[in-house]
Amino acid sequence: MLSREECAKALSTVEGLEEEVFIRSVPVPLLAPTSQIQAAMWSQHFWPSVYRKNNPLGPHPAQVSRSTEEIRNDASIWMALAHQVANQTHAAGYGEPIGACIVHREEGKCTVVALAGDARWLHQNKMGSTGNPMAHAVLRAISMVAQKLVRAENRKTETKMMPILEFEAFQDNPLLDDEKNVFEQDHPCPDGYLCHGLELYLTHEPCVMCSMAILHSRMGKVIFRHRMPLTGGLCAEDRGCDHPALKGADGGRGLGLFWRRELNWSLTAWEWESGGCERPLPLDQAAHA
Ligand SMILES: [Zn+2]
Repeated sequence: MLSREECAKALSTVEGLEEEVFIRSVPVPLLAPTSQIQAAMWSQHFWPSVYRKNNPLGPHPAQVSRSTEEIRNDASIWMALAHQVANQTHAAGYGEPIGACIVHREEGKCTVVALAGDARWLHQNKMGSTGNPMAHAVLRAISMVAQKLVRAENRKTETKMMPILEFEAFQDNPLLDDEKNVFEQDHPCPDGYLCHGLELYLTHEPCVMCSMAILHSRMGKVIFRHRMPLTGGLCAEDRGCDHPALKGADGGRGLGLFWRRELNWSLTAWEWESGGCERPLPLDQAAHA
């Protein structure tokens, strides 16, 4: 902290300010502007301000309600698909009853881009293990989108690149018939970055690892059904770290990744209220979805 005199003395050494340094107080906004209009207004009244789309107060209510309207009518369809694949993968013994459905939406037209169930128990010994984390439903679904992009790129350049993402640990080859049907169809818009602007429908709130994968893949919207209060990564509430069910499970920190301005400029997340459309898919509370 400088005194006024010290400040004036320091400024008077700046070229062009030698003559008459004067100091006065001007109140300026504490937070960054929350819209383009506000940035322009503040630039005029206070100092140059730039809107960086990272609203410090959370997603703009107008954006949230616009997006909610967009998904309101057909969310139950995509959620039903996620439930279906969750039940199938569980019945087949591949993994926990967790499912993911990725949808591309453009001008009211929707296309399912990937459908994946959890496959953590495939080729895994259940004894004392939490299964293969790379085969969580979210990672499988994102990886399938990536494979589709590689496929489209190969076709365009007529190269026969080896499918580099087909690393067995990810289990991103379709295992179920429904997964395969979706996987074989082409990506409706294979030019963007990985999952930019896509919608992800999930039976369960994703674990912290999957939540970060969702952020990094630039997913546009996430809609999940069951909260995972101890291990989920999207909600911000206190997750009860001392809960006995958490013993041995690394989670429960309430990270709230669905909207952290230092991480995320565009993802918005919803908790789906089913109204009883689908049978609940209970999961061990300590499990990471
Ligand atoms: Zn996960």
